Amino acid sequence: MSSVTVSLGYAVTLASRHEVGIRTLAFEVTRPQDFQFVAGQTADLTWIDPPETDDEGNTRTFSIASAPHEPRLMFATRLRDTAFKRVLEKTALGSALRMEGPFGNLTLHNNAKRPAVLIAGGIGITPFRSIVRSAMNNKLPHKILLFYANKSVETAPFLDEFTAIAKEHPNFTFIPTVDEPPPSWSGEKGHISAEMITRRLKDITSEGSAGPICYVAGPPPMVASIRVALKKAEIDPDDIRTEDFSGY
Ligand SMILES: Cc1cc2nc3c(=O)[nH]c(=O)nc-3n(C[C@H](O)[C@H](O)[C@H](O)COP(=O)(O)OP(=O)(O)OC[C@H]3O[C@@H](n4cnc5c(N)ncnc54)[C@H](O)[C@@H]3O)c2cc1C
Repeated sequence: MSSVTVSLGYAVTLASRHEVGIRTLAFEVTRPQDFQFVAGQTADLTWIDPPETDDEGNTRTFSIASAPHEPRLMFATRLRDTAFKRVLEKTALGSALRMEGPFGNLTLHNNAKRPAVLIAGGIGITPFRSIVRSAMNNKLPHKILLFYANKSVETAPFLDEFTAIAKEHPNFTFIPTVDEPPPSWSGEKGHISAEMITRRLKDITSEGSAGPICYVAGPPPMVASIRVALKKAEIDPDDIRTEDFSGY
């Protein structure tokens, strides 16, 4: 007799939500006691019995933005005019979802001699919030460099949070860059380029030190353009790990 295992996932509910940027929402779901994950992984969330639906369906994949040691599961997303997101914006807290996962392997490497270069475009920041918070909590010795590209300060979730973490942790360097900087902006401007990566990487490495492992997450066109920049910066393709947020 053969048996088939069917994963029914976890029953969770919407626990909180708040804006973290223009048309950008962070939301939390209750965390099942037996749900374990590694920083950088994803979960699939499905509305159970939502008030509306559309052709795109009731399920989306999201990177887990909270770290494994944090008590709740947090996600963040850009709000767009789809049924899934309208429900997310308006439904009552306590509404039911099914969660499946964890999935994915965009997780930090073990060899702390090699720096981690994390590169996020917009909402691609979500897995890196988890990775950075987890690395700091576990006092990992890795040097971590986070490049974070956004259109503007107002569309960049967790900007203040990463700035504060960088002040506290010398192993963590935060490099936000915006297309439309405010007059007071003293950071990087424009897209993340090969020149920017090479220049900032030099600040944290010395001659002969081990090369970085690079992680890239964001909408597919952004991930593709960063791959080109990393090639120009002479990063070995074997040392590049990417997460395409397909759907954007
Ligand atoms: C690994 C991974 C991690 C992601 N993490 C995040 C995150 O942290 N935050 C976030 O906002 N978004 C994330 N996304 C994208 C997210 O799943 C949604 O596609 C996106 O938010 C757009 O949804 P929408 O309702 O705004 O638009 P829609 O127009 O409804 O876009 C969704 C469309 O994408 C298609 N789609 C969904 N998943 C996939 C897939 N895996 N492969 C191909 N097509 C797909 C759907 O069928 C649908 O047509 C992630 C996607 C992936 C694959």
